[in-house]
Amino acid sequence: MARKAFLIDMSRCIACRSCQVACKQWNKLEPEATVNRGSYENPPQLTPQLYNQIQFIEQGQGDELRWLFMNQRCMHCGDAGCIKVCPSAGALYHTPEGMVAFNQDKCIECHYCVNGCPFDVPRYDRKKKVTKCHACVDRIANGLVPACVKACPTQTLRFGDRDALIAEAKAAGKTVYGESELKGLGAVYILEDAPQTYNLPAKPAIPASIFLWKDVIKPLGILGFWGAMGAALLHYVTFGPKKLDEYGRRHDDDLNPPEKGA
Ligand code: SF4
Ligand code: SF4
Ligand code: SF4
Repeated sequence: MARKAFLIDMSRCIACRSCQVACKQWNKLEPEATVNRGSYENPPQLTPQLYNQIQFIEQGQGDELRWLFMNQRCMHCGDAGCIKVCPSAGALYHTPEGMVAFNQDKCIECHYCVNGCPFDVPRYDRKKKVTKCHACVDRIANGLVPACVKACPTQTLRFGDRDALIAEAKAAGKTVYGESELKGLGAVYILEDAPQTYNLPAKPAIPASIFLWKDVIKPLGILGFWGAMGAALLHYVTFGPKKLDEYGRRHDDDLNPPEKGA
C-alpha cells in the first residue's frame, strides 16, 4: 500500500482549534480544567486527553507582533523511536498506511516510548497506558479522512498519498519539513520559517541510548535467556528430571540428597 501522510501547511492556519475539538469528540477524550495564562493557547501542550494542539508562537518585531501557529501531534515517523524502544510487541506499531498507532491492551506501562520519541509526544492516561494521535486508524481503514482533517476549515490539514502531497507542496515553492527526517515523517509540514522557530528539531534523531538498549543490551539479554534455556536442556538430557522428595521439594544436588526429616 502507498504510504499516506498528513500535509500540514502552517501558513494557512487561523488557530481556530477545530482540529483539537474534533479530535476530542471523535476519540471521546475528556474535557480538562485549564487556566488563563494570558495567551489564547490552551492547553499549553499535548495531554493524555489532547492528541493535537495548536501552539501560539508570539514574536516581537519592533512595534509589530508576529503570530505563528504550530499544530503539534505525533509525527508518525518512518523510523519511530517509540516503536524501537518498546519491549512489548504490538503495543506501538506501523499501520499498512505507514502511520504509528497503539494498542493499549499490549502496553505494559514501562513508559520507555517517552524516552524514545524525539518530539516529546507520547502521554499516559489514568491507567498509565500509552496514548497519542493514532492517525484515526479506525476512520482511515473505512475510507474516511482523520477527524481533525475533516474539521479544518482552511485546508491547513490534509491527508492522502504522501508522495503526491509532497510533490504538490514543492511544486508550489513551499518549504517542506519531514520529507526525509527519520526515514520520512507521516506528518509533513509546510513552514514559513526555520523549524526551530516552530519548536521543531532541525535534525530530529532517536536518542543514542535507544540503540544501546535495542542493539546491544536487549540482544545480550535474549542471548542470556537462550543460553540459560540451553544449559537447562543440557542438564535435563544429561541427568534426567530433578527428583522431588517426599515433601515435594526439588534438590539441585542429587548426589547429596537431604537427610530424612530435614
Ligand atoms: S513522533 Fe514520537 S510517538 Fe510519534 S511516531 Fe515518532 S517517535 Fe513515535
Ligand atoms: S488524526 Fe485523529 S487521533 Fe490524530 S489528531 Fe487528528 S483526530 Fe486526533
Ligand atoms: S482546524 Fe485548521 S485552521 Fe483551525 S487551528 Fe486546526 S489546523 Fe488551524
